[in-house]
Amino acid sequence: MKILVLNCGSSSLKYQLIDMENEEVLAKGICERIGQELSVLTHKPDGKDKFVREPPMPDHQVAVELVLEALIDADHGVIEHADEIGAVGHRVLHGGQVYSKSIIVDEDVKKVIKDCFPLGPLHNPANLIGIEACEKALPGKPQVAVFDTAFHQTMPPKAYMYAVPYDWYEKYGIRRYGFHGTSHAFVSKRAIEFAGLDPENSKVIVCHLGNGSSISAVLNGKCIDTSMGLTPLEGLPMGTRSGDIDPAIVQFVANKENKTVDEMLNILNKESGMLAVSGKSSDFRDLNDGMDAGDERCTLALEMFSYKTAKYIGSYIAAMNGVDAIVFTAGVGENDDVVRKLTMEYFGYMGIKIDLEENKKRGEERYISTPDSKVKVMVIPTNDELRIARETLELI
Ligand code: ADP
Repeated sequence: MKILVLNCGSSSLKYQLIDMENEEVLAKGICERIGQELSVLTHKPDGKDKFVREPPMPDHQVAVELVLEALIDADHGVIEHADEIGAVGHRVLHGGQVYSKSIIVDEDVKKVIKDCFPLGPLHNPANLIGIEACEKALPGKPQVAVFDTAFHQTMPPKAYMYAVPYDWYEKYGIRRYGFHGTSHAFVSKRAIEFAGLDPENSKVIVCHLGNGSSISAVLNGKCIDTSMGLTPLEGLPMGTRSGDIDPAIVQFVANKENKTVDEMLNILNKESGMLAVSGKSSDFRDLNDGMDAGDERCTLALEMFSYKTAKYIGSYIAAMNGVDAIVFTAGVGENDDVVRKLTMEYFGYMGIKIDLEENKKRGEERYISTPDSKVKVMVIPTNDELRIARETLELI
């Protein structure tokens, strides 16, 4: 069966068509600037040249239709008819407290996705539009919602509650939810297999470090804590997000600079993090180049990021009363040997040792700890689309 995986953002739509016989990606691509001028569709069929078009894309419905056209196109397509697509798996940001697993979409599921609009104001509306667009374009084909929050629903109340008035939780669902769930689930499961751990007796810490970053503590295969909260703003400092700060800063600067709370949150989401500290870039490749050239603020940004990553890892070792494996994944986790080295240097006292040659390699699944290290440290590339496709196939 061929499964189409869709990841709809507010103005973008990423897709992959995966043949589940062999889990091969037949085609992948992205629609950008949906609803804006100069929309672009970039389509990459396996074994053929990339194909770029710039048709008008007033909304996600049109974008979905263009994706289907590209998939069946005589020259650039990979299937003959849209009917060959057996099902669609949708990445959905927020499932609130309702869904701890993926689910086949029906009217009730759509209602929950809608009820969670206030919790995921940029993504959930786009996710729902993507689902409805597929219902129209591929009538009768099952649609599956795979929630970014679902894997973290096993957190106990002591991990997910905030120490704020209790009725905020009761009235508005103010609690920690966590994100990147598909990646944390995929990578922790793979780490258990790779290291030959007992799934029922394992302690794994997953560091999903990318443009957005989060860390999770996975005890016996279940998430018991994670660094992102009500929204993806909490936790580590990220490309452009501040991560944890004293909330009083919001009031202080808003008063000084006559800004609204919305404006402040926009700054904390889009103009903070590595970008703000370095004054140069949110991209870790640029920070590394800056550090090599002796730039103090790029160096500070990388040091802050690694220090905070180490502090989260340390707190999760305490939360699980030990750790068997620490895993790095996503754009930074898989590629940035400097961040991994700076982070793991904090754990020498625990007998964790990094093999600097293995650490320098990129991308591939491997140990980066030495054989005599007390804890296994590894790199496992994440694959959200494959996980979504597998869950979709399992459900239907
Ligand atoms: P997201 O999915 O959150 O957008 P990714 O997981 O794709 O992010 O990670 C993107 C980030 O990975 C980039 O911003 C870049 O900083 C980092 N990155 C990619 N390649 C490298 C590399 N070779 N060295 C260091 N950082 C890298």
